[in-house]
Amino acid sequence: MPVHMSHPENNVLLIENDPGDAALIQRALKNVRVGAFHIEWVTNLSDALTRLSKGGLDAVLTDLSLPDSKGMKTLDSLLTVAFRVPILVLGGLDEEEIACQSIQHGAQDYLPKSHLDSYALSRSLRNMIDRKAAEDALFTEKERAQVTLDSIEDAVLCTNSSGHVTYLNTVAERMTGWSREEASGRPLADVFRIIDRITRESSLNLLDMAISQSNPVGSTANCILIRRDGQESAIEDSSSPIHDPDGHSVGAVIVFHAASTARSMSLQMAHSAQHDFLTGLPNRLLLNDRINQAIALAQRYMKTLAVLFLDLDGFKHVNDSLGHAVGDKLLQSVAIRLVDCIRSSDTVSRQGGDEFVVLLCGLAQSEDVISTVNRILMSLVAPHSVDYHDLHVTTSIGVSIYPDDGLNAETLIKNADTAMYQAKENGCHGYRFFTAAMNVRAVERQSIEESLRHALERQEFMLHYQPIINLSTGKITGAEGLLRWTHPIRGAVSPADFIPVAEDCGLIVPIGNWVLREACTQGRAWLDGGLPPITMSVNISAIELRDEQFLRGIFAALKDTGLNPRFIELELTESVLMNNVESTQSILKALRETGVRLAIDDFGTGYSSLSYLSKFPINALKIDQSFVRQINITPEEKTIVGAIISMGRSLNLRVIAEGVETLEELAFLHSHHCDEAQGYYIGRPITAAQFSKLLETEIPLFFESSVF
Ligand code: C2E
Ligand code: MG
Ligand code: MG
Repeated sequence: MPVHMSHPENNVLLIENDPGDAALIQRALKNVRVGAFHIEWVTNLSDALTRLSKGGLDAVLTDLSLPDSKGMKTLDSLLTVAFRVPILVLGGLDEEEIACQSIQHGAQDYLPKSHLDSYALSRSLRNMIDRKAAEDALFTEKERAQVTLDSIEDAVLCTNSSGHVTYLNTVAERMTGWSREEASGRPLADVFRIIDRITRESSLNLLDMAISQSNPVGSTANCILIRRDGQESAIEDSSSPIHDPDGHSVGAVIVFHAASTARSMSLQMAHSAQHDFLTGLPNRLLLNDRINQAIALAQRYMKTLAVLFLDLDGFKHVNDSLGHAVGDKLLQSVAIRLVDCIRSSDTVSRQGGDEFVVLLCGLAQSEDVISTVNRILMSLVAPHSVDYHDLHVTTSIGVSIYPDDGLNAETLIKNADTAMYQAKENGCHGYRFFTAAMNVRAVERQSIEESLRHALERQEFMLHYQPIINLSTGKITGAEGLLRWTHPIRGAVSPADFIPVAEDCGLIVPIGNWVLREACTQGRAWLDGGLPPITMSVNISAIELRDEQFLRGIFAALKDTGLNPRFIELELTESVLMNNVESTQSILKALRETGVRLAIDDFGTGYSSLSYLSKFPINALKIDQSFVRQINITPEEKTIVGAIISMGRSLNLRVIAEGVETLEELAFLHSHHCDEAQGYYIGRPITAAQFSKLLETEIPLFFESSVF
């Protein structure tokens, strides 16, 4: 038997134990005109099954009476192994009953052996093989369509010509609430219940129209689909009739989806589920999410985060006396200010009522929270103008820190809430950290701030004066007023520790004002007492300069004490000048016009160049003590100090060296024509009484020293 490995021919298995019949058949199929058949011949069922199990056959031709099997049993056995291969049964002329049974059992065709001529046999085989191929193709096609229909976002529903449902894709199942199996065969109106949104009448007649008009009907607007469980949703739908090859309508395809308004509404609903309706801020739900996200990030990047719980003080009073509408607007105004106080990566949320929660993330250390808290306190304090009312509110803030005060959103919020109550008990408009176990430095700072608030009224401040001498005469030409704070429990607190805190919470403004008045009063008293006139240097911080009342405060202090402005020298650091150059320029100009003098403090530690400084009406430069200290070290550093001195002088500025601690430093500065000097070697900061004694002697300091 020749073996052909490849088609075009069709491989046919012939099962026939009669050699005569087998030869006849083989001959009949040998010279067919269209398409060739390659015959493999076996004589019994068992060989046939072996061959079939190997595959690669396009058709089976079989006699049912074989040596090892007879009748329908033969066919059944073949079908179990070869259910995808079409089978043609060969039999006698008068075996009509067998023929029928064969077809019923699953054979494709039946042919009496008497008709085994080339034409009839090849035609039967060919038809059978083609039909099977078409069936397979249809199956694949249907599979593909099914997968497609189930993966699109639109719902698809099909009916037959009598309006009964034949098909639903997955989306249609979901939107109607009917499964494909349950819906199949039911009237369309049962499954696809649509009504007009306005009249609430059934809209199905529109569909019938589409089918009867034999034309696709575009989307019907204002449709509501009622799901099986009664839930309603707005939909847009379109339907098209399906035609048979003769053009008769055999059913319809309906495609529908949630209406776009419904879509936007659902988006809107998702938004309102996460936001507060009044302020548009995130609500509890979204906040919890954000906190948990921030915790995950904090863990990864070794950062910390803070939760601030805010409650407005006296909000109830506003609500009760001016009404809810005003109260609501006040809350909106507060919301806007809060958002302005934080970075975009932080979150402000409204918990309800007059309570807000702020999440600050990515903090390097917990003390960083304090500047934001102070910013919030100060920002809210400015009057809120609502419906022609200027409303004043303050707020109490509780702070919790991750991970010290809680490891999840709920705990952090709860603890911040507790801390907020403590803040309220402490007398409103302030803040509190949670627990005693909270960050020690933050507590420390908070406690300094709290004590600072009372320091002025309790008269815990004092000014000390450090002499400044003229390096060519050795005489005292000035005094720098340095603030001293004696805390009732802590004792002396260094300005380095409390000035930054006072700056942060805005207390530096009233404190600075006190310092200035004190210095002016003292200066005036020394003059009145007949002591030689000296310059009073007063330190001014950036926050003071930015305060609207700054100039007015200085003018008032000068006027009230009657001190000639030329005896006052204000010390500003470089960074103060670099911020808001224009407004600083105009403030300094106004000061200079009154005769007040200006000095750059800590010169050399900022980033300004001398030429940049020439933009400002400056009188003097104070070389930072770090440079003076270097005089003792290397020749190069000496050159730097020397260079600063000569540059300052070339700009017509007085040059003052700070922090002079040794004779060597003093000698160097003297030899490089530095104008003035200040430092422990010359004199430490002392009380006003001690200083007046120093002035009284009028003996040049270091008179006997070899320098002068
Ligand atoms: P500053 O204005 O640079 O003041 C000089 C600081 O150096 C003073 O420290 C002074 O005691 C210290 N000092 C003076 N001579 C020597 C020395 O020879 N060696 C050493 N190691 N230090 C010396 P103090 O009094 O602790 O003040 C620190 C800073 O606090 C001041 O630096 C100033 O920036 C700020 N400050 C002090 N009083 C006030 C004030 O009334 N208002 C404002 N805004 N800031 C002030
Ligand atoms: Mg100073
Ligand atoms: Mg200084």
